[in-house]
Amino acid sequence: MKNLLKEFSEADLKIFKEEFNDFLPKKILDSHIHLWKKEFFKEEISIDKQKTNPFADKDIIDGFTFSDFKFVANKLFPNKIYEGLFFGLPIKEINLQMANKYISNVCMENNCYGLYIPEPNLKNIPEDFFKNRFIGFKPYPDLVEYKMPTDFSELDIDVSIFDFISKKVLEFSEENGLMLLIHIPRKNRLNDKRNIEEISTIATKYKNIKIILAHAGRSYCYSDIKDSINYLKDFKNLYVDTAMINNFSVNKLLIKELGPEKILYGSDLAIAALKGKNIEINNKHYFVTNVPHSWSLSSSEMNLDNFTYFIYEIIGAIKIAVKSLNLGKEDIENIFYLNTKRLIDDILYSISKN
Ligand SMILES: [Zn+2]
Repeated sequence: MKNLLKEFSEADLKIFKEEFNDFLPKKILDSHIHLWKKEFFKEEISIDKQKTNPFADKDIIDGFTFSDFKFVANKLFPNKIYEGLFFGLPIKEINLQMANKYISNVCMENNCYGLYIPEPNLKNIPEDFFKNRFIGFKPYPDLVEYKMPTDFSELDIDVSIFDFISKKVLEFSEENGLMLLIHIPRKNRLNDKRNIEEISTIATKYKNIKIILAHAGRSYCYSDIKDSINYLKDFKNLYVDTAMINNFSVNKLLIKELGPEKILYGSDLAIAALKGKNIEINNKHYFVTNVPHSWSLSSSEMNLDNFTYFIYEIIGAIKIAVKSLNLGKEDIENIFYLNTKRLIDDILYSISKN
């Protein structure tokens, strides 16, 4: 990633010290971190994708390594022990084998764990899956062979969840009680009944799988989740992560309806290391950034120097929700550390017995 934290200032540090230092527990476990290197790309990323997908932006696509992660964690979270659950960048142009191998190497060297990005039709689980420190999967809709209508954003790809999560992945995850981090497809997200049906099918049929909805089912807007939460709240094996959610009313609803024990703090680094905010306008979400990008709202004329990092906006939106619900220290520690830690420990236990 180019210019990593180049704009870090005293004002950002002040936010951390005043808003987050006391609020956050000493140990933080970020459940949603992408790591990759530029040399993993096997082909050029299309201009269309560069325009619409923040991760494909020319300032970001160059890579985000484990040492970049350490740099960001130390600078933005001084005095905290900031750990992560890692996976590659799930886009078609990347060599998945290299992407997964890198995660495995990082995790072996640094005593952490990762999620494996599977091919949509994966039929054989790679050898030494657990030895390579994978504890689950991060499947992704964009990996499906699919002819995108020209007026479509690639983030809204119209495929079934079962088009990118193979039966083998489901069965292996069930057998070992693994994590399955699902980035849901389709334009209407959780308001698309087909997504609800497919999530329900997985949650009911595969009760041992720890299902995590990435970005709480891509619910950046309150309208994305306010009705659909009713269909999700009774599944014991369903969790959500907070990656890139900047909206406290979404967090408040999630905590209230699912319970704080189902909320996993996640950032979506590397993108969360940019300055900006994810906002909701008339039931649609937009990225706003201090520096203009083709995928964000911005202004080259206005002086936007009071912006801070997405990752602080994510935590700020959790803080407001937590405070408005009067949650205590224990619940805060659960959200930022223990919920994910317990899932990992549970998986390690289950693997050791199998
Ligand atoms: Zn992500």
